[in-house]
Amino acid sequence: CGVFGVVGVTDAANFVALGLHALQHRGQEAGGIVTHHPDTGFNQARRMGLVRDNFTSAETMELLPGTIGIGHVRYSTAGNKGQTAMRDVQPFFGEFSMGGAAIAHNGNITNALQLRRELIERGSIFQSSSDSECIIHLMARSMGRNIPDRMEEALRKVEGAFSVVAMTRTKLIGCRDPLGVRPLVLGRVGDGWALASETCALDIIGAEFIREIAPGEMVVVTEKGVESHFPFRPAKSRFCIFEHVYFSRPDSILGGRSVYETRENIGRELAKEAAVEADLVCPVPDSGTPAAIGYSLQSGIPYAMGIIRNNYMGRTFIEPTEQIRNMGVRLKLNVNRALIKGKRVILVDDSVVRGTTSQKIKEMILDAGAKEVHFRIASPPTAWPCFYGVDTPQREKLLAATMSEEEMCTHLGVDSLRFITLDGLYRAVGESKGRDKTSPAYCDACFSGEYPVAPSDMIEQGFQA
Ligand code: 5GP
Ligand code: SF4
Ligand code: MG
Repeated sequence: CGVFGVVGVTDAANFVALGLHALQHRGQEAGGIVTHHPDTGFNQARRMGLVRDNFTSAETMELLPGTIGIGHVRYSTAGNKGQTAMRDVQPFFGEFSMGGAAIAHNGNITNALQLRRELIERGSIFQSSSDSECIIHLMARSMGRNIPDRMEEALRKVEGAFSVVAMTRTKLIGCRDPLGVRPLVLGRVGDGWALASETCALDIIGAEFIREIAPGEMVVVTEKGVESHFPFRPAKSRFCIFEHVYFSRPDSILGGRSVYETRENIGRELAKEAAVEADLVCPVPDSGTPAAIGYSLQSGIPYAMGIIRNNYMGRTFIEPTEQIRNMGVRLKLNVNRALIKGKRVILVDDSVVRGTTSQKIKEMILDAGAKEVHFRIASPPTAWPCFYGVDTPQREKLLAATMSEEEMCTHLGVDSLRFITLDGLYRAVGESKGRDKTSPAYCDACFSGEYPVAPSDMIEQGFQA
């Protein structure tokens, strides 16, 4: 999911809509905006579908006056999957004795089911099936004297990954979980401030990128300035390494470097680790593009757009049903036949999950007359599900959960298949010695199976890490 908030600008809703539009790659199922205006109080609009289809009409935007606002774009990783129900669309809103507050959450709360059970036993009435709603109910139960205090107390009970943006009538609040699994950044826009999942959402509104919110940090932002707290027990940060590989936009800055540059590095590492003789390096667009460029630069094999993408389709993986996902690849990608015929082709993609994309693409490339097909993947085999806010399927559906690299190669029927190693990936993101086995600086659980936060709801349901 993507979160965005702004304070101290005229027409906050327009800024939030633009910010969410820049974060659309983080969630495409639904979106919502909450603002506050002294005359109208809290205003909200929550809609199914894309930001550009919902938050552009005067009809909707007129519902959202005010100089402070937050928003959310949703991609269901918890709660109702498949069809997002309207009631699961964020931001969520609560009335407390000291006034109202709205919250938008990116990540996944790993003890949400346990919290929900306890809260329901003690009288909370849940409106949605979303894990994020727990935060509002925990805030309602808190004795804290103001909303930031209540939010602190609530978030101390929550486990897992959260980058939260919240607002009261006058305050914009941002908080990252102690491990900082999901990103959150602070920007300056005119005399106001913005919080966003990624810096690309600051760029679109002309905001200056000030800094990342630190893991475990809570900021309370008013028109007067930024106050910072550290409400949690300090922990070693474990940022999601997959944000570098796939999830974040390539023009965003993560850890002081553009995601594009990191992805190009990943491609270079991959070329060093898994060289092969070929005529062309082609990306599986768009997610494989920067890594393919890196692979080509490192290997000296020419880069070519062997597969052309129709830009009017969303990301296939994110479409929730299996049937749409299966069709999706062909609807979105087409082979540039003239270029491919008779060639030995290296195809670079960011990841193999179910193997659906690779399978379809291999068929299309061979169909177009390629002589050889070599897959190079910019992440290690995805062998474990993510419980921290990226929608990977159950373990059984992951190709790498049951097959070795060689078996996957045979299964996909390609001439070769190689994944970057975990060490190579760490080197590419800037850890010069690769992955330090005792205390990795990132979360890499979907590749290693080492979960930095025990996924306790899942363990209760029988999952074995
Ligand atoms: P597969 O087709 O193997 O199931 O999925 C891999 C493809 O899905 C890759 O091309 C990748 O770009 C895309 N993808 C989209 N969203 C996600 C996501 O959340 N996780 C992963 N691992 N891949 C995703
Ligand atoms: Fe990121 Fe993978 Fe960890 Fe999920 S399990 S937070 S996708 S590295
Ligand atoms: Mg892709």
